[in-house]
Amino acid sequence: MLKKLWFQVILGMIAGLVLGLFLSPSAFAIVDEKISFMLAPWIALIGNIFLALIKMIVIPLVVSSIILGIMSAKNVETLKKLGFYIFPYFILTTFVAVILGIINTTIINPGSYVSKDVIAQMNLANTQVTKTIENISIPDMIVDLIPVSIAKAELAGNILAFVILAIFIGVALLNLKVEESKPLVDLSKSLQAFSMKIVEWAMKLAPYAVFGLICNITIKIGFQAISSMFMYILTVLFGLVLLLGFYLIIVYFSSKMKPFEFLGKIKEVQLMAFSTSSSAAVMPLSIKTAENNLEIPPTISKFVIPLGATINMDGTALYQVSAAIFLTQLFGIELSFFELIVLAITTVGASIGTPSTPGVGIVILATILQSIGVPLEGIALILGVDRILDMCRTTINVTGDLTASLFIKRVLGIK
Ligand code: ASP
Repeated sequence: MLKKLWFQVILGMIAGLVLGLFLSPSAFAIVDEKISFMLAPWIALIGNIFLALIKMIVIPLVVSSIILGIMSAKNVETLKKLGFYIFPYFILTTFVAVILGIINTTIINPGSYVSKDVIAQMNLANTQVTKTIENISIPDMIVDLIPVSIAKAELAGNILAFVILAIFIGVALLNLKVEESKPLVDLSKSLQAFSMKIVEWAMKLAPYAVFGLICNITIKIGFQAISSMFMYILTVLFGLVLLLGFYLIIVYFSSKMKPFEFLGKIKEVQLMAFSTSSSAAVMPLSIKTAENNLEIPPTISKFVIPLGATINMDGTALYQVSAAIFLTQLFGIELSFFELIVLAITTVGASIGTPSTPGVGIVILATILQSIGVPLEGIALILGVDRILDMCRTTINVTGDLTASLFIKRVLGIK
């Protein structure tokens, strides 16, 4: 068991948590606050190196995986069917997540559990989250989806642009003569192979990375912030559990796999997502798990997972809508039915646009809050507990991608 990645990751998490609690100024504080804050980045070093290594190769990996995924489609019909099902599936499941979030947060009403003193105490003006919201119209947004400047997309870390580019390249190659497409296919194979080699090296660091990241977070988390936001945290977690239940139903109907069997097969992916808070960072592991443990053919795994890791973020959507409603409850803003619909649609769009890296879901939340007239400063209130929720929502995000692969395998009728 000691050799198993999931076991090492759990050990890393527990060790990180324990050391973090000892060092954290708001827990046992065995050393001075200054020293623990000075130690934190050193403890997190391997974790951050791990994340940087994956980020370094994520673009060649996404591009080559998608191109090869498309090229490995036995025929154009399969590919058309895949595209035909996957986009509505992603959008529909995201709507389910948003609706679950709205109902759940409205019924539990976590806003009513926060004492007004807490709101008064928090320095609302001191928010660190800043986001300038440009007024772009929907037609402009649609045109902007086409990556005109790859350099710009690279600079902005916009993986979606690369996903779209890779889809265009893959489909175009499929329509060329073999001798025309071969050089690029070979190049993609080579790109994918070296990216996976680097992932393999990075994965050797995974248990230490997890230890460092969890310890660092535990040191920095304010336990006071957690206690005052307890009901809010619980509400989001409960929503995420409901969403997980929804996935398990889809999994069962798609593959006849029982819930614990499925969860057992994907536990490494979930643990890594929880520890790194980044769907992009676990994407290579998700592809491997889909192929080896869930028996998903590469045509599906190499297409659905990179795409899903970029645009299918149901956990994030549920979190964003719950956070928005929680803030309306705190600020005493009543939402009409029409506003709720606007909120749902904006959240679906926002979660698609959320990059798959740690802590960005809350930044994108700003767009959503603006659409329903909640003061952006409200974000300061929930910032303190964002990381824990980020870890949990990312776990659900990656589970959603693996569920989608099983669903697509079923509808394409591949055994
Ligand atoms: N960390 C999330 C992810 O990578 C995105 C978010 O911040 O919600 O899936």
